[in-house]
Amino acid sequence: MPGPAMTTWHSPTQPMQASDARLACLVDDLWRTHFADVPRPNAVVTGFGYPWQWRLGRIRMSLDGGTTEITLNGLLDDPTVPREIYVAIIAHEIVHYAQGFASPLPRAQRHAHADGAVSRELARRGLGATEGALLAWGADVWPALRARQLAARRTRRAPLVLAPCAVAGNMV
Ligand SMILES: [Zn+2]
Repeated sequence: MPGPAMTTWHSPTQPMQASDARLACLVDDLWRTHFADVPRPNAVVTGFGYPWQWRLGRIRMSLDGGTTEITLNGLLDDPTVPREIYVAIIAHEIVHYAQGFASPLPRAQRHAHADGAVSRELARRGLGATEGALLAWGADVWPALRARQLAARRTRRAPLVLAPCAVAGNMV
């Protein structure tokens, strides 16, 4: 039986944002609707994280096994990203959890992606279409979104980079 699962986000560097909270709801929804048979023996946390160049999502477990963290690329925190893309990424990571990768559950196979194990599991749970949607979106939309997001981040950071120079200028 799944426990009274409530996904949260905690990070020492970044407080939980409204968008992280929405992801947490999505994880719990997905778990209830498609993974209700998968127990959660540890705490599952989720949120947007590092703006990776290529990786869209990641699942990892703390050393003590107490927490599993599902992180989505911070560049995906954008209103143009369709909900089905979040669903696709999260579903993929929950399959890893269900198959004993980055989770305390027993391993279903030796390697996380061996022999299409993830695809098979997604299909078995009625989530096969999410993979195709993610593949298409990853090829058609993601490269431009990533470039736009990275450019926007550079612009937002600029004042911070310039601040020390401005201070030095005032001192002269
Ligand atoms: Zn994977």
